[in-house]
Amino acid sequence: MTDRLVPRLHPHERSIFGDMSRLAAELGAVNLGQGFPDEDGPEVVREAAIEAIRSGRGNQYPPAHGVPELRQEIARHQEHFYELTPDWREEVVVTTGAAEAIVASVLAFVDRDDEVLMFDPFFDMYPAVTALAGGAAVPVPMSPGFRPDLSALAAAITDRSRVLLLNSPHNPTGTVFTADELEGMAALAVKHDLIVISDEAYEHLTYPPARHIPIATLPGMWERTVTIGSGGKSFSFTGWKVGWASGPADLIAAVRVVRQHLSYVSGGPFQWALVEGFRHGEVIFDDLRRSMWLQRDLLCRGLSDIGIPPIVPDGTYFAITDVRPLGFDSGAQFCDMIPDRVGVVAIPLSALSEHPERSGPYVRWAFSKRPETIQDGLARLSDL
Ligand SMILES: *Cc1c(COP(=O)(O)O)cnc(C)c1O
Repeated sequence: MTDRLVPRLHPHERSIFGDMSRLAAELGAVNLGQGFPDEDGPEVVREAAIEAIRSGRGNQYPPAHGVPELRQEIARHQEHFYELTPDWREEVVVTTGAAEAIVASVLAFVDRDDEVLMFDPFFDMYPAVTALAGGAAVPVPMSPGFRPDLSALAAAITDRSRVLLLNSPHNPTGTVFTADELEGMAALAVKHDLIVISDEAYEHLTYPPARHIPIATLPGMWERTVTIGSGGKSFSFTGWKVGWASGPADLIAAVRVVRQHLSYVSGGPFQWALVEGFRHGEVIFDDLRRSMWLQRDLLCRGLSDIGIPPIVPDGTYFAITDVRPLGFDSGAQFCDMIPDRVGVVAIPLSALSEHPERSGPYVRWAFSKRPETIQDGLARLSDL
């Protein structure tokens, strides 16, 4: 079917999220697989999008690097939450979702055969995007408790290593990197002169006492780090696809060059809506965290009751469980079987990993769903 696809993209033909969501829709199953929220973001932000369309703000191509007001809000956000002080003129770029910021960054910094280090399991687009750039993905297995393994990272570095592609809070495991862990990564990045692409799509989804620390705040890191955020994840509008990157002018200039030849600009009215969103940011992020926190506890308690206690996540809206206690050999076997058997969809970690010896028995659950949906899913699973 895809004979015409260039060979280097063949391993990336399928998206597990697309496949599983389609299956869920076909079977009328409870979709605890794909991690989109089933409740839209705040009314005030929705209204701002409608108002922008009505009043003609952003209906034609917005400025290439993003609406200036939005870039100013992003700069203010980085300062308010992290004491980072990007100049909105040169050090911020608005993108078509965090995804485009990741693609543009990888294409900007990764040349043919350059190596991109990433922790395994990974967000599925990382190896695919590395392949787009002609680079080589180097998945570094996380520790048995799914923490970043710094000695494994150090051992994976070669003279072809170019980029360290980080993600904290981490999808799929929910791990939030600690200050110590980040310091270890920063030391390696400085020592080996790596550019760090830091995907912080879940920056506002951490559960106390865990807190999010952008690696760019560590000594020596600002100048080598592109920090990426997602309006979809932070404001619960994943369909709008507005994201951003910030960092030092030389790195952001390179990202801008690539990005202008990808989507050129992204959703004008949605950019204006996020200006409004950021102005209410503190309240919005707090509300989101609080509701996800309750849903996390609901899901985790339920999974424990069923006999598959999760690794309770410090961040994101995902939790992972080892399914062997229920008599399954692997997460893949479990995820193949449960849609038909009990009408629930989940994601096998093996689809997000090249280290099945570690990830094989695990399954990822999304709790970005209404409490009723989570309860329905759990009730169905208890029939297993
Ligand atoms: C959802 C997600 C993205 C993509 O974010 P968009 O803003 O929807 O493009 C990037 N990274 C991670 C880890 C994600 O979970």
